[in-house]
Amino acid sequence: MQSKYSLKNIDLVNFFFLVLTPLAAVIGTYYWIKIDGFHYSQILLGLGFYLLTGLSITAGYHRLFAHKAYDAHPVVKFILLIFGAASFENSALKWCSDHRLHHLKVDTDEDPYNVNEGFFYAHMGWVFLKKNGTVHERFAKDFRQDKLVSWQHKYYLIIALVIGMALPTFIGGYFLGSYLGGLAIGVFARIVMTHHCTFFINSLCHFMGSTPYTDTNTAKDSWFMALLTFGEGYHNFHHFFQTDYRNGISWFHFDPTKWFIKSLSFTGLAFKLKLTPQEKILAARMQMKVKELKTKFELPEKVLVEVEKLRGQVLEAMAKMHELKDEYKYNKDKMCALAMQEVKIKIDSAKDEFEHCMEQWEYLVKNYSLIQAEVSIRN
Ligand SMILES: [Zn+2]
Ligand SMILES: [Zn+2]
Repeated sequence: MQSKYSLKNIDLVNFFFLVLTPLAAVIGTYYWIKIDGFHYSQILLGLGFYLLTGLSITAGYHRLFAHKAYDAHPVVKFILLIFGAASFENSALKWCSDHRLHHLKVDTDEDPYNVNEGFFYAHMGWVFLKKNGTVHERFAKDFRQDKLVSWQHKYYLIIALVIGMALPTFIGGYFLGSYLGGLAIGVFARIVMTHHCTFFINSLCHFMGSTPYTDTNTAKDSWFMALLTFGEGYHNFHHFFQTDYRNGISWFHFDPTKWFIKSLSFTGLAFKLKLTPQEKILAARMQMKVKELKTKFELPEKVLVEVEKLRGQVLEAMAKMHELKDEYKYNKDKMCALAMQEVKIKIDSAKDEFEHCMEQWEYLVKNYSLIQAEVSIRN
């Protein structure tokens, strides 16, 4: 059988670019230090461009353009598009059409970076193949109407060369004293870092971690991967709730992309941030827990009924609590003091009910054997 990486299948431009950039980074760094001498300012330049281009991929290409998880001022869109191009990961239009197909056909032959083809393929092998070089038009219709995205697609290469290569080299030489340093660190080393850290989202994030929300695909949640991918490591959550502007939903989850978007929203430059309702998140988590219990303990029918009943009670209590909170939030201006007090009391009791059900649920999950004993005694 012929290898998928045979010469006739390879896109030579992509192949040489991905192979030669790490080489250029190593050789360039050697000559920079040898000729001009090491200076930490070049490292800061590289890190600055790494942050700008990496966030332009995650907050821009990914969450803003591909998923429309929020909206942004045209100036923000423009900046994310030019620094997105500077990451040398193709135009936003092409990138997003691949990514939307990935979500729709994840883990199948139609998935452009199907992880079942192997780690290397999902990481970068797919970029080597000519067959993956075309735009999937059915996922790019909205972008064809978008003037900024179409402009970036048309002039992608020139923007990439100017912002991604000429600009860091110029800053490195004119302001920091070494054109060679700017080229080695600000361009080549930074491109390699941005490439592989964002490539990890398609490879390692489908390999390593847990599945708290769904096991219908290979996407995983991993705090460690979040550190390497600007917060995209909570990929199991993302595949299930793809329009949420967050990937790490807890305040302690490392998700700089979420923090960046949230910060922009305080200035009004980002808006319409989409959040998944908490009930849906909790329902998915509980569904997965039930699955886990079933496979771990081979639950008898009557216990299953208990589990499902309790799950229903938790979700019902949460929905009731949110309903009352919304009632208070939207009507408080029209309410008299007494009515306000009444709703507040109702909210408190709904909260108590929810917490009580949740405690029972946690108890069940953690101490299944005790629950099983209780059920059998009761019957
Ligand atoms: Zn994925
Ligand atoms: Zn996505």
